[in-house]
Amino acid sequence: MGKILGIIGGGQLGMMLTEAAKKMPEHISKVIVLDPNQNCSASLVGAEQITADFKNKDAIVELSKKADVITYEIESGDSEVLKSVENNAEINPSPETLKIIQDKFLQKTFLQNNNIPIPEFIKVESLDEVKEGLKKFGYPALLKARRDAYDGKGNFKIDSENEVEKAYDYFKGQKLMLEKFVPFKMEVSVIASRNTKGEIKTFPLVENIHEKNILRQTIAPARTNNKVSQKASKIASDTMDVLKGAGVFGIEMFVTQNDDIVINEIAPRVHNSGHHTLQSSKTSQFEQHLRAILGLDLGNTQLIHNTIMYNILGNLNFEGEYQKLDFSKNNIFLKMYEKKISKPLRKLGHLNIVGMDNQTIDQLLDELSQIKELVEVKSI
Ligand code: AMP
Repeated sequence: MGKILGIIGGGQLGMMLTEAAKKMPEHISKVIVLDPNQNCSASLVGAEQITADFKNKDAIVELSKKADVITYEIESGDSEVLKSVENNAEINPSPETLKIIQDKFLQKTFLQNNNIPIPEFIKVESLDEVKEGLKKFGYPALLKARRDAYDGKGNFKIDSENEVEKAYDYFKGQKLMLEKFVPFKMEVSVIASRNTKGEIKTFPLVENIHEKNILRQTIAPARTNNKVSQKASKIASDTMDVLKGAGVFGIEMFVTQNDDIVINEIAPRVHNSGHHTLQSSKTSQFEQHLRAILGLDLGNTQLIHNTIMYNILGNLNFEGEYQKLDFSKNNIFLKMYEKKISKPLRKLGHLNIVGMDNQTIDQLLDELSQIKELVEVKSI
């Protein structure tokens, strides 16, 4: 008999996990998501929903009593509450792993202690400490909120002495860290997986292009040489080995001017830069996550086709209902997340442009530029 899977968060990641779960009925009989938005994306593809805030303790207890295994699509869950329900359901990745990852300072300290390369950083607890740190790191440097930051919202790039106080005030008393600026050549990521038995597999390195701090495009594979890709995979595997948690993790990295790799941050969950795997790879990141948390053998991570993933983001100029997007071409796959309302830069869907006839990355980029306009989000 299949297990009942609980997911904290029922947005697009929960939706695509639910869809993957439905293809594994012998292992998963039902999915229940906990999400504050009624008719969340996951509920629209067959997940049962508990409607409550992600941090609502009673709701998490309810989920743990109903589910055999719990996972999450957001990293801001309360690790103490999750720990307290471990007797009811298995939780993967474990609350201990979540606790390390969800605080950027603890995460980087952990990586440093395990000899995994990261940018230089320090904890800062006052304006004076920020100023002291800047003497050491120079300009620019990044002041970062330690917790609950996503899509670049928790960062302030300090370019000069004039901006120090503004940067400090921006965070209004949040716990902070300061990080040396890395003049990177490329932003990349590895989707890495570790199952409950300790087996580790990584997907090939991909290249990420951001706009306004939000992922806009992923190019699979990254346009780097083999040495860089292999270095990144090794760092990702080593990270999974020391972190121990079970599941898929998105490991974001910078390629430096000397072709070194440093980790920017880790997400303890399936990741936007892994959406290309839905069509490009033997196993999708969503199936891989389920395999990992259920203790099944991990799937083959080979990339079969060059692929570009392009995020469909809410138009900057409006909030509200939007025109339905429809697009079909044999090598282009549109996935919409069925969100009713568009908001500026909200992730509403994505497009995978797949090199099924051995197209090069340049050819796929060309194809993308020809169709970009057709997938613009417009108000009704
Ligand atoms: P984060 O929210 O920490 O992932 O950062 C969002 C974006 O800010 C990254 O994708 C980078 O483009 C940039 N960034 C973050 N940290 C650094 C750094 N130490 N040096 C240069 N750019 C950075």
